[in-house]
Amino acid sequence: MKLKNYIGGQWVEPENGAYEPVIDPATGEILAEVPKSSVKDADRAIAAARSAYDSWRKVPAPKRGEILFKVGQILKERKHELAQQMTREMGKVYTEAAGDVQEGIDMAFYMAGEGRRSFGYTTPSELPDKFAMATRDSIGVAGIITPWNFPMAIPTWKIFPALVCGNTVVFKPASEVPLSAQALVNILIEAGVPAGVVNLVHGDGPVVGEALLADPRVDLISFTGSNQTGRHVAKVAGEALKRVSLELGGKNAIIVMDDANLDLAVEGILWSAFGTTGQRCTACSRLIVHEKIYDELRDRLADRMSKLRLGHGLEKSTDVGPLITQKALEKVHGYVEIGQQEGAKLVLGGGRAENGDLSRGYFYQPTLFTEVTPEMRIASEEIFGPVLSMIRVKSLEEAIAINNRVTYGLSSSIFSQDVNRVFQAIRDLATGIVYINAGTTGAEIHLPFGGTRGTGNGHREAGTAALDFFSEWKAVYVDFSGKLQRAQIDA
Ligand code: NDP
Repeated sequence: MKLKNYIGGQWVEPENGAYEPVIDPATGEILAEVPKSSVKDADRAIAAARSAYDSWRKVPAPKRGEILFKVGQILKERKHELAQQMTREMGKVYTEAAGDVQEGIDMAFYMAGEGRRSFGYTTPSELPDKFAMATRDSIGVAGIITPWNFPMAIPTWKIFPALVCGNTVVFKPASEVPLSAQALVNILIEAGVPAGVVNLVHGDGPVVGEALLADPRVDLISFTGSNQTGRHVAKVAGEALKRVSLELGGKNAIIVMDDANLDLAVEGILWSAFGTTGQRCTACSRLIVHEKIYDELRDRLADRMSKLRLGHGLEKSTDVGPLITQKALEKVHGYVEIGQQEGAKLVLGGGRAENGDLSRGYFYQPTLFTEVTPEMRIASEEIFGPVLSMIRVKSLEEAIAINNRVTYGLSSSIFSQDVNRVFQAIRDLATGIVYINAGTTGAEIHLPFGGTRGTGNGHREAGTAALDFFSEWKAVYVDFSGKLQRAQIDA
């Protein structure tokens, strides 16, 4: 099956006729062929989004919201098939893929509601017979560039608020997950999004994504992906004075104190560290553990990790799926070698999983390092795989300082039953998201999502924070005095 781009209301082949295969990372099977589009396709999509903008911004926001409500209903009806397709496309186990679709459903209904809210505010004027208000305005064409690890959730978190705010969209999904992108766009069309309002262009980031960054017809860029690409996006789009939102991952830690409920902590750690094979931006890859319980936690974890079952995500028995690509597998293994060279102790895993059918896919053994020190590279750089590093601490203060020393600041967590320690941690953990007695993953769509420092550039996704990114404030003054009143001068 050859996929197409969707430009100006038409499914079209790429102008250059170039394609590449889409591969099931668990089996190596070719699922489809995705266009390797050129700058010309991106150019046409931007033009289509530009020309649709003026009428879309004038569609009443409640009507835009109604379309999103319909999108949510269709997503709900197709949740099962979308999740199955996602598992084949990028490997995460079925239940997690269904959760990924559920995030899209939740976001659709939430943003549908924003069609009837999108609150601005009124405030008294300093002058008599004058009215003042601040309203939300649309911005223009949104360039949406997304990664492969949440094929439905991340695009919906960006596209739905962009649309409800009255912007039009050029969507460049990651090359690994074009089937999910196509399914989402089909649903948007079915729900009534007019031609040109959403355009989909498949292709390489450095070609199609790049074309969006500097083009003056694109007003804003919302990007999720690697730190390296994010910096480039910020530079090029920033130079063009575009509004840019970056979500660039993390080096998230779980702190386990000596008074923690260890049964609960083990569950939270397994889910956060090995869910989606460690390929979540909020995945836990550092475990900061009080010295009094360090050995016990290590033994309990190693025991549970050794029982995790690797396999195709559509098999009911599978706990952990494959990594996304051969390149990702090599990157993860490279970090395992670095960890060993740095002197960390490899307790479990540390190699490709190749038994039987696993040899067909990019499977990696769940891996545990102990005796890790905070300055090691495995404790400070994003690995994006099933590798967990245990760091020993003597106090909460030391744990918090270690949590905060990395360049990322997305998510953190603490397991403790001591309310004083918990509130101290809430105050001092320098991340955008903090969990108490839960792992580092599990964001809900109506709260702000994003992080501090190297995780991004200060914007937040989801919740009303998303509206702040996808809309522009407009201050309106209505003078009904019938005479010229000069602010600051006539008062
Ligand atoms: P990238 O940052 O390369 O890709 C993210 C998106 O950006 C993709 O759609 C990609 O396109 C696109 N892109 C790439 N280059 C450009 C460019 N010059 N201009 C505009 N868009 C561009 O991440 P990878 O997928 O290569 O993953 C590498 C690492 O990034 C991971 O190992 C992980 O550490 C991190 N990562 C973090 C994520 C997070 O959730 N924060 C998500 C994914 C990755 P395409 O890939 O199709 O060429």
